[in-house]
Amino acid sequence: NSRTVLQNAKFKGHALTTAAHKYPKAKLQNAQPVKNPAMPGDVVGQVQVATEKEIATALDTATPWQADVATRAEILNAAADAFEANAGELFAILTREAGKSLPDAVAELREAVDFLRYYAAQATSQQQARGIWTCISPWNFPLAIFTGQIAAALAAGNAVLAKPAEQTPLIATRATALLHDAGVPPSALQLLPGGGDVGAALTADARINGVAFTGSTATAMKIRSTMAANCAPGTPLIAETGGLNAMIVDSTALPEHAVRDIINGAFQSAGQRCSALRCLYVQEDIADNLLKMLKGAMNELNVGDPWHLSTDVGPVIDEAAYTGIANHIAQAASEGRILHQIKVPSTGYFIAPTAIRIDGIADMTKEIFGPVLHVATFKSSELDDVINAINATGYGLTFGLHTRIDDRVQTIVEKVHAGNIYVNRDQIGAIVGSQPFGGEGLSGTGPKAGGPHYLPRFAARPAPQ
Ligand code: ADP
Repeated sequence: NSRTVLQNAKFKGHALTTAAHKYPKAKLQNAQPVKNPAMPGDVVGQVQVATEKEIATALDTATPWQADVATRAEILNAAADAFEANAGELFAILTREAGKSLPDAVAELREAVDFLRYYAAQATSQQQARGIWTCISPWNFPLAIFTGQIAAALAAGNAVLAKPAEQTPLIATRATALLHDAGVPPSALQLLPGGGDVGAALTADARINGVAFTGSTATAMKIRSTMAANCAPGTPLIAETGGLNAMIVDSTALPEHAVRDIINGAFQSAGQRCSALRCLYVQEDIADNLLKMLKGAMNELNVGDPWHLSTDVGPVIDEAAYTGIANHIAQAASEGRILHQIKVPSTGYFIAPTAIRIDGIADMTKEIFGPVLHVATFKSSELDDVINAINATGYGLTFGLHTRIDDRVQTIVEKVHAGNIYVNRDQIGAIVGSQPFGGEGLSGTGPKAGGPHYLPRFAARPAPQ
């Protein structure tokens, strides 16, 4: 008789039946197909890309939200209710369009709802709208970040021109419809799907009174110069951008905890979070053991269709992302630097979770936005050098630390430049209201999203009493 050995094994292959959500397949002008990154043959729907004429009309007709502050708050809360009431549909879109695992989709909806309720509560009659805001959002949190930017701008009484990422227009379309149905006037919120050219047009106009952007550091820099050339002097840009995020694990860390947190930080959301752990520094004395444990934990990851409840790691967003990350891994392989890699499905844009050996974070010249962890070791005498190297990247988004030495927590937290620091826990997450998210240096301009200073940035200063 064969024995059943219970060893953390996960049942693989359980699939929910994909709900047959229908998105417009009718002939749209400028229609472009939206594809499922787990199954590129699966066309999720069509999006109508904004034309030059539509962009011009949107700029002409955008009208700051005139309703009083109590009405605005009521409508944003009604939108939050509608998001929750339509959770199943929003999960299905997030999963098929953005490749989100179901747990990630649940967390994302919660964050979007929290943003709506938090900014609704923060709106006051003291705030004066600045006017028209362009909000440009990325594909990796296509509901939460999209909604957060818009909710803050609307709560302060502005008009919004929203430009979702080209990969994820369907979730933005549905969210916009729910906001309109809840009572946000169409003149105060207009959706303009398209790529970087649409984003550029919406940041190169003197009628724009502010831009909220989340995406790559390179794009933020382009937007800054476009705005400098075209917008009124002093027009604010709120940018949240990338990171080269590190974690230090010293020899006093609890290895089980550290490994669990490394796995979550590096591989959840297939590494497609700006907060994700990219570079792990392990103290030499414990490196052999910790890396053995890390390999074991990587072997337990289920990579596959995000619609399966057992999936831990889904696909990366599209072919361009796939190719860029695969080339990076191939280069490391040609240099004999692969520490570990697990097997993945051969169709769809699945990147094998991979650990790569490097000498230090200075070897990383760019943010690899996928399930790839870089690992370096350090001697106890090198701790200051490690911190200096982390700071020298110029980014400053997240930083993780595992140690049981209290004094060390204190000194390291003081020295490291990072907007969000995670001690003896996973390097993930923010809580709207109490633990806002945002970086320093090349990682963003601040203020932190979901914090007390974010919404006020969308308002002109209140008139002196
Ligand atoms: P990612 O690497 O996450 O795709 P990007 O910075 O390229 O980051 O994209 C983030 C958002 O910025 C997307 O909505 C994209 O269409 C938009 N975008 C890209 N280029 C420009 C640009 N030159 N001006 C304004 N928006 C842009």
